[in-house]
Amino acid sequence: MGKLASRMSSFNESQTLAMARKSRELQAQGIDIISLSIGEPDFDTPNFIKESAKKAIDEGYTKYTPVAGVAALRKAVSEKFKRDNNINYTPEQIVISTGAKQSIANAVLALVDVGDEVIIPTPTWVSYVEIVKLAGGIPVYLNTNIEQDFKFTADQLQKKLTPKTKLLIFSSPCNPSGSVFTADELQAIANVIASQEELYVMSDEIYEHINFTGQHTSMASFANVYDRTITINGVSKGFAMTGWRIGFMGAPLWIAQACEKMQGQFTSGACSIAQMAAITAVLANPDVTKEMCKAFERRRDLMIKLLSEIPGFIINKPQGAFYIFPNVTAYYGKKIDGFEINNSSDLCMFLLHRAHVALVSGDAFGDDRCVRFSYATSDDKLIESVKRIKEALTILN
Ligand code: PMP
Ligand code: GLU
Repeated sequence: MGKLASRMSSFNESQTLAMARKSRELQAQGIDIISLSIGEPDFDTPNFIKESAKKAIDEGYTKYTPVAGVAALRKAVSEKFKRDNNINYTPEQIVISTGAKQSIANAVLALVDVGDEVIIPTPTWVSYVEIVKLAGGIPVYLNTNIEQDFKFTADQLQKKLTPKTKLLIFSSPCNPSGSVFTADELQAIANVIASQEELYVMSDEIYEHINFTGQHTSMASFANVYDRTITINGVSKGFAMTGWRIGFMGAPLWIAQACEKMQGQFTSGACSIAQMAAITAVLANPDVTKEMCKAFERRRDLMIKLLSEIPGFIINKPQGAFYIFPNVTAYYGKKIDGFEINNSSDLCMFLLHRAHVALVSGDAFGDDRCVRFSYATSDDKLIESVKRIKEALTILN
């Protein structure tokens, strides 16, 4: 094997994708794995959205699009931000990308210089840290815990600021905790951001439509941080369109233009057909997402009930997304049949091999006390998986 660039050892593989791969490999060997690892809705994309993609093919939308996206989609996204989020972004401030993940990478690479500090509250989604490292930035962790519902406060943020702090990255609803920040909590955080010059915030709102509180607040809707906020969103989660790969950002014009320049060298415009389908999704009455949201809420309640029957698991009540992130430290220090469980990763490996259930370990999200369950799957699978976990853990008690 030859020598890869040193940059390749500066960041890690995506642990959510790695666990999904591992469970697919075991399934291919004929092992009946229930995967609660990857976070993606089990629903199919609504038919009326699929129809626009078919129409787009027939009408010849098969060519390169402008790098920042087709004009009609940028306009639709700008209207969506006004309609749902009370944010005024002109279409020029919108950049369409190949998934929200690319929007995040564009913005971090465009904004974060080598040595800049980026505050990342934990638990955090796996990719923020690795993308920041790839950009040469320094991740600064702001740790929270289950007792505070995994929500960082304005005071905690204030204490982490240094003259080198460039960016805060967080999601609400949050992956992996499912926590949802209230408008008051966000306003307090906005005030801290506004108090320091050259400090920006990336507000990842990809789970906007999977919110059980009925109230989603966007960071950029606060006037004092409008020109410091990069709003990330997309169609993957709310519209069950993970495979279509369409994400978008709204940002101050100079940041949007930098992201367009970045994307123009990496991937060009996103898939033309998927963009035409995304116009239909974004302009649809947001009620279309409500059925799926209701199903997730019901499953959230089911998971709380099931998991609270497992001795030692400490759980809270997530208000959004489709994850639950119990504290499982009661099982650390236990040994059985060659398995020694000292951390979240050991516990996940034990459960993968003994219960045939795939989860993602909390350390991947910066909190080794917990493991993540993605409950975006059928009730039957949820019931069966928790039954298996309970049985496997009994021998550890
Ligand atoms: N942000 C968060 C918090 C996520 O969980 C994900 C996972 N899909 C993404 C961004 C990336 O979304 P996409 O699939 O649109 O790239
Ligand atoms: N965001 C999902 C997750 O956390 C999908 C996988 C990924 O892109 O990380 O599982």
